[in-house]
Amino acid sequence: MLGLMQDQPLLISSLIEFAERHHGDGEIVSRRVEGDIHRYTYRDLAARSRRLANALDALQLQFSDRVASLAWNGYRHLEMYFGVSGSGRVLHTINPRLHPDQIAWIMNHAEDRVLCFDLSFLPLVQAVHAKCPTVKKWVALCDADRLPQDSGIPGLASYEEWIGGHPSDYVWPQFDENTASSMCYTSGTTGDPKAALYSHRSTTLHAYAAALPDVMCLSARDSVLPVVPMFHVNAWGIPYSAALTGCKLVFPGPAMDGKSIYELMEAEGVTYAAGVPTVWQMLLSHLKPTGLKFSTLKRTVIGGSACPPAMITAFQDDYGVEVLHAWGMTEMSPLGTLCTLKNKHLSLPKDEQMKILQKQGRAIYGVDMKIVDGNGKELPWDGKTYGDLLVRGPWILDTYYQGDSPLMPDAQGRNWFPTGDVATIDADGFMQITDRSKDVIKSGGEWISSIDIENIAMGHPAIAMAACIGMPHPKWDERPIVAVTLKPGMQATREELLQFYEGKTAKWQIPDDVVFVDAIPLGATGKMLKVKLREVLKDYQLPGV
Ligand code: ADP
Repeated sequence: MLGLMQDQPLLISSLIEFAERHHGDGEIVSRRVEGDIHRYTYRDLAARSRRLANALDALQLQFSDRVASLAWNGYRHLEMYFGVSGSGRVLHTINPRLHPDQIAWIMNHAEDRVLCFDLSFLPLVQAVHAKCPTVKKWVALCDADRLPQDSGIPGLASYEEWIGGHPSDYVWPQFDENTASSMCYTSGTTGDPKAALYSHRSTTLHAYAAALPDVMCLSARDSVLPVVPMFHVNAWGIPYSAALTGCKLVFPGPAMDGKSIYELMEAEGVTYAAGVPTVWQMLLSHLKPTGLKFSTLKRTVIGGSACPPAMITAFQDDYGVEVLHAWGMTEMSPLGTLCTLKNKHLSLPKDEQMKILQKQGRAIYGVDMKIVDGNGKELPWDGKTYGDLLVRGPWILDTYYQGDSPLMPDAQGRNWFPTGDVATIDADGFMQITDRSKDVIKSGGEWISSIDIENIAMGHPAIAMAACIGMPHPKWDERPIVAVTLKPGMQATREELLQFYEGKTAKWQIPDDVVFVDAIPLGATGKMLKVKLREVLKDYQLPGV
């Protein structure tokens, strides 16, 4: 017997329709590439998304055709989120920090038909357009009077003129909720990039889950600033959850430095922000010497790479801002776990609570996880045993776009996605990442977590950033070393830093050396690129070897 409830597909268009009807006057504020501040409402967003949908229809784009964006966080990009997917096309968000050859490669792989870009990326588009024969329309996200003359890009249109020529009345089509809605390529640090192809259903379910109190806890009372880019994994789904909850949205545009982010937070009463640790490091470095405080910020989600405990403490103790440590992946839409305490932890002393809050957190309903050994056997949840982390759920990748399925079946025939992370899970279900499996340091048959070594270094007042890698060792296979950058005007010696490790970790886990570098190479999503760091240190010799 089937249930007798209304059968409505979970479509992205339903989010924007809901936003327009139920919190139409909710504000969306964007710092534009032009430098000024733009304000409008969800009602305006909905109307302009419909204009865009009409413009795409007029181009005679087919159902599921790909429409690409190369854009910062801003209102026009948001219109693409709803107008492109809502009309049945697939939004392909491109990370502008990728190499131009890689961008051309993924545009061809995705067979993009339209590319809309912020003017900051004009040189990038000029470099790739001749290599992208599938694109039939190039659109600059700007007013007509800002459209560059002689750009060399055939038929380049201004977004405003383009959508302005189309009506704002449009009936969103209804279709199967499993239809593809958007896609995002992984950064491809090894081999060619691979794409996760999200569906309306996966995106909508993720949007519901992300808004839950123990997840991102978004509400109509929040003013939310996603620093996490809309060009990578849908800004952690915030644009969709925002439409669902009616929170105020504040977009930083291209101004991602600590000072600009801080000023925008203060001006717009931001209560909630989300970003990777490297961005928050910049913000904290701006605040510390100036003595500035946040007047409205209450919570921040930090994820994408391990959040150093020193950062959690700085936000909480110095600024009264709660940090929510999050873990996820492009292949997971991206949210997998978030770290919030359970009721039974509330009476624990603060340092015990801190130990929990450093973990990557508990699974969100919709995500199941387990750790397994090399034979796929499930390992205990004791907080100590570590193994390969596997996940499954309705917003987790099944198969890469035009690629393979990496899933691993278990004895019950359930399929699990191997994350490539190594982790522990404790009895309360809190997961802690030890490492990417390729970054784990194997010393004398034991594993050393590079994240642990980095976190300790980050607790030293002079250290701005730390990256731990294994170096070949004739007796122990590998030994850890830690490469560090110093905060401006600060000093520290190798000996002092090695001393700093004493008592903070087992003796055999203390790095063999500290290497001072000018910068730690970062990838397209602000994560440390250890492959590059190994190249930089290719002539390095461990002391005494
Ligand atoms: P990329 O940015 O390389 O395309 P993802 O954004 O999908 O890829 O990165 C996912 C990986 O980032 C995870 O598998 C994990 O290794 C790492 N990661 C994400 N969040 C955290 C976190 N909170 N702590 C530690 N590692 C994290």
